[in-house]
Amino acid sequence: LALGAELARWRAAGRKARLWWRDDDARGVTPALERLLHVQAQAGAPLTLAVIPDDGLPTLARRLGACEGVTLSQHGADHVDRRGGGQAGEFADTATEDEIVCALVAGRRRLAAAAGLLPVFVPPWNHAHAALEAALARAGYQAWSAHARTPGGALLPRVDVELDLLRWRGGARFRGERRFLADLAEALAVRRTGGDWERPIGLLTHHLEHDARTWRFLARFLDWSAARPELEWAELAELLPGARRAR
Ligand SMILES: [Zn+2]
Repeated sequence: LALGAELARWRAAGRKARLWWRDDDARGVTPALERLLHVQAQAGAPLTLAVIPDDGLPTLARRLGACEGVTLSQHGADHVDRRGGGQAGEFADTATEDEIVCALVAGRRRLAAAAGLLPVFVPPWNHAHAALEAALARAGYQAWSAHARTPGGALLPRVDVELDLLRWRGGARFRGERRFLADLAEALAVRRTGGDWERPIGLLTHHLEHDARTWRFLARFLDWSAARPELEWAELAELLPGARRAR
């Protein structure tokens, strides 16, 4: 298998790949969120919830206060699609940088009460408006996180995701074990061949969309990866610019 061979190359090089985990679309405490927190606690892998600034926040903030290894990032201003067709996105193409700054800051204010909030913005649908990055820099965000394929990244650091547990065309469903592990092998190979060993590999999950197979595979993958000497899980805070490595 490609993944086994790739891991052997990392082992031979004496390197560890860094993984990090982002889960999108939390906006309140639901059975699916409880299940996600249970899976996270069992595996002990650090998790960043990309939270929609919304009405359920006080309850969510209270629930997460007791969770070890769970941090928060701001997922959008309100997670409403204003692009009207094609790639979804919060900001219409005609939105100005000033308007975007106002929307970002208003969203951040709604999230401010939650403990563990990092100064990282996660754009809904991984869509980057042409003025988003400049607006984020002006509004004081330290970094943003989209999909590795999302354009942009010249003004502000990015910590992206690229291993999506789901596939989306024709309705959200499990990507499948073989495809997912092939994506991991590919991400590892790209870093190794580019000498880019330190660049983290982001796992993306969407707890509200997981079926039983997806949940089972997620738990197995977290356990498997924790036991691999070539892989280590990192917290998003460790991956931000200026953060010192734990070891
Ligand atoms: Zn979203």
